[in-house]
Amino acid sequence: NPALSQFGLQMSQLTGVRAIMKDIIETLRNSGGKEFINLSAGNPVILPEVEQLWRNCTQELLDSDEYGEVVCRYGSSQGYTPLIEAVIKDFNTRYDLELSDRNILITGGSQALYLYAANAFGGYTPSGELRQVVLPLSPDYTGYGGVSLTPEALVAYKPTLDLNEDKHRFKYRPDFSQLQINQQTGCVIFSRPCNPTGNVISDDEVNKIANLAASHDVPVLVDSAYAPPFPALNFTDMNPQFGDNIIHCMSLSKAGLPGERIGIAIGDRKLIEILESFQTNACIHSSRYGQAIAARAIASGKLADIAVNVIRPHYQRKIKVLEDTLDAAMPKDIPWYLHQGEGAIFGWLWLKDLPMTDWEFYQELKQVGVIAVPGSTFFPGLKEDWQHKQQCLRISLTATEAEIAEAMKRLAKVAKKVYQTL
Ligand code: PLP
Repeated sequence: NPALSQFGLQMSQLTGVRAIMKDIIETLRNSGGKEFINLSAGNPVILPEVEQLWRNCTQELLDSDEYGEVVCRYGSSQGYTPLIEAVIKDFNTRYDLELSDRNILITGGSQALYLYAANAFGGYTPSGELRQVVLPLSPDYTGYGGVSLTPEALVAYKPTLDLNEDKHRFKYRPDFSQLQINQQTGCVIFSRPCNPTGNVISDDEVNKIANLAASHDVPVLVDSAYAPPFPALNFTDMNPQFGDNIIHCMSLSKAGLPGERIGIAIGDRKLIEILESFQTNACIHSSRYGQAIAARAIASGKLADIAVNVIRPHYQRKIKVLEDTLDAAMPKDIPWYLHQGEGAIFGWLWLKDLPMTDWEFYQELKQVGVIAVPGSTFFPGLKEDWQHKQQCLRISLTATEAEIAEAMKRLAKVAKKVYQTL
């Protein structure tokens, strides 16, 4: 085995949820005929209307003179011009902005964008000072756990909790009394709507974070992988926020195109140029085929249409099934709390005072043929001990409605049994 560098060691580790995925894949493979309801998937459902849209855009591309120019040539690192133009036109009209082509960067998926940002703005400065990558509200996307080449740079903050005991619901909010954004901060990142919790932090809270960061010239990346206008996986009103230090980051992965790796960053031209250079060094540019079909889907308005009329209602029905089944099946005397389902494709269940760890509860669920993801993997960067970290579960809404209902009934029985041992 070759001796690895510090970066090599860091980047060759399986972080967060990928380690658990290994256990899940092995469980499914060695099931010995046992059927599982798998509520672990992060892969979006293939919806027929969405697949048809991408098929049609591909057909148009194949039939056009543009095809050779798109797939047989390199392009600019910043992105394919028709896609950049489609994004500018859509956003300028929709949100009354004055974006120019210098404000946009197309990346090979949004995960790559966070890696560029975490290492361009975070990590050690030439004079040896550590600039932090701040996650203002933990739990958040597990993938942030692997984006910094300097793991000590990643710092996350515990939230405050709004609790509705009677309704068995709760909601996380950024804890501004603890959150530190200062001259040691390199950048700030959070997802809105949030994977894994479905939380949507308010417009005011986004602006408060952005203003704190602006006073130190710190960029704020708002991970909008589930936000409007596409895939529009918000079930509550929310408005994307823009500003000099806000980098609005989108992904086409939850709008049916995860295989093509398209991320979109919108922000100040100086910030965009830095990220663009990073991308040139890393991979030159994103797939041009993906960019060309995305340009068509966005310019025609069809993607935004399908997002609101097909993608959003699909998952909104599922979260309703999850909520209704848990409300009916869970014992009332157990302190269970479901996070407000405000968006994304997951439910997030908090089992307060759970008499075992989330990992042990995950094993119990496997016994009744249900797989969900233990929550402790969704607190990247949070160094404090906090029992809450071992009391949560992420439930994917990618299974069918019948499967979700059945799985939640089984989960309720397991919860009853487990709490009885108290
Ligand atoms: N951000 C969030 C919140 C996600 O849930 C995901 C994928 O699940 C990503 C980013 C990465 O998406 P991609 O790299 O496919 O754009």
